[in-house]
Amino acid sequence: MQMNFTRRQVVAGAAVLGGTLALGGCASPQKTKQTEAVSGKQADIVVVGSGLSGLACAVSAAENGSSVILVDKAPFLTSTFLTSKGNVSIAQVPENKEAWQFDTEAPDTIDEFEKRYRKQTELGKVNVPYPDYDRMRHMMVESCATIAWVEERTGIAFNKSFTKEMVGTDTVKPEVNTDPSKEGGAWVAEGFAKELDRLGVQSMVSTEALELIHEEGTVVGVKVKSKEGDQELRAKAVVLATGGFGGSQAYCDELVPIINEMGLQFLGNTMNTGDSMTMATALGAAVYEGADIIAGAIMPARALTKADTGFQKLCENGMEGAATSSKLLVNAAGERFVNEASPVIALSTAMIDKNNGPYYVLFDSSNAAVAALLEKGISTNNVAKADDIALLAAQIDAPQLVPTFETYQQAAKDGLDATFNKKAEKLMPYGVGPYYAVTFVPSFVATMGGIKTNVDCQVIREDGSTIAGLYAVGETTHRFMYNRNFVRHCSNSSSLTMGRITGAALAKQ
Ligand SMILES: Cc1cc2nc3c(=O)[nH]c(=O)nc-3n(C[C@H](O)[C@H](O)[C@H](O)COP(=O)(O)OP(=O)(O)OC[C@H]3O[C@@H](n4cnc5c(N)ncnc54)[C@H](O)[C@@H]3O)c2cc1C
Repeated sequence: MQMNFTRRQVVAGAAVLGGTLALGGCASPQKTKQTEAVSGKQADIVVVGSGLSGLACAVSAAENGSSVILVDKAPFLTSTFLTSKGNVSIAQVPENKEAWQFDTEAPDTIDEFEKRYRKQTELGKVNVPYPDYDRMRHMMVESCATIAWVEERTGIAFNKSFTKEMVGTDTVKPEVNTDPSKEGGAWVAEGFAKELDRLGVQSMVSTEALELIHEEGTVVGVKVKSKEGDQELRAKAVVLATGGFGGSQAYCDELVPIINEMGLQFLGNTMNTGDSMTMATALGAAVYEGADIIAGAIMPARALTKADTGFQKLCENGMEGAATSSKLLVNAAGERFVNEASPVIALSTAMIDKNNGPYYVLFDSSNAAVAALLEKGISTNNVAKADDIALLAAQIDAPQLVPTFETYQQAAKDGLDATFNKKAEKLMPYGVGPYYAVTFVPSFVATMGGIKTNVDCQVIREDGSTIAGLYAVGETTHRFMYNRNFVRHCSNSSSLTMGRITGAALAKQ
């Protein structure tokens, strides 16, 4: 039976997304799955995963004349993007002037773009052969055409949100002020869903792809499992668009062990368990070396957010009086190691690089609501409480905490942080005790790793040869975009562009 997806399911999806966007560690994975196919369907193209990249691919292939089946194991489509503000990076360079979204303050070139991009992604550079700058440039030169295409397909206009002078890349987001309760990403998802309906794409939700079907080395379909039972979906090409691997404990342990060693919080989609890797490596696909994470804000430890969901709000801007940027963040010895008002990604990265935890954020008792929440964490041993700083330092065995605290109080009084140059407005002196030392960890929103592809998004083996009939788009293959650091909004951008170009190319084959 065909499970047709409706626009209502996109909107309902946004409401239940809290269940799939994770907070905490990674779910226990099943890395090897088997099924017996009992019935089947046929199309030109099967797209596995209905995030930004899979959606763009399905729409693009269908509008170019292909029959398409789009499957997602979640009960709704476009999961990760539903809660996104919808920011997308663009390069506005002479090569794509006819598709510019807004006039730039100063002319740009792709070389200048790359220079700024390089500075961001190579901060704390690691020894991996990424980014592939040629491929990154290709993605970004195509970005303006991608936005024009999305606007036309969804009927939603994108407008300037950031400029290259502000964040290094010109950026646009959906203009959807009519209903501020719904994020920009949800509007785009809804617009794409209308296109799926109009173009006759067969959308199957709650349908998990388990295994690729191949004949003499060529991929000819995928085995899926849904409430209706197991099925074989046969096609001339299969496009894997299953996102990253942050929802898989086994892949996290194997590829980025610090995630679970340090207890990083995962803020991404728990449905994203690296299934493209599992399916494609079974056929000899190569996996990117140097897998990594895209860091997010610093968060209270997993045991705290598990004990009480209120702890999720104990972060920058999350709870009145709790802004961590105006607090002290110290390492195991009780020393500061960073300007606490640095960008959130820089804080998480500093914690990971120094690996000198447990890390603590210090709170006083001046905000009763915050103190009441902190009391709930004491039984987890991730909140220490004492009437004065010396007693607190003894409790957490952090001998430097007393001098650190005294220096900080003086800096706050003077409005001058000689050690880390924190701005005066963020230097808030601590008030009355009792004082609390709360264990904080880095978080991550996405992963950089997965299966290797070539410039046409064909899945490749280690020797560079392609696996016929198999393609991958989006986060499952976007390692080629970055070195150490993510460049803001370039994952959304490259996901859309990979999907748009690959879908059209497959339809024209
Ligand atoms: C909190 C947060 C903030 C972010 N902020 C930004 C930002 O500001 N800028 C930016 O560029 N990027 C950002 N990202 C990252 C960005 O959202 C992703 O990189 C992008 O959405 C990836 O799109 P995708 O299509 O590859 O994967 P996704 O949108 O994650 O979609 C993957 C889909 O595959 C499905 N799936 C998985 N396995 C299977 C299977 N076996 N069978 C069927 N379906 C399967 C999943 O259910 C999911 O729907 C953020 C991510 C998060 C979580």
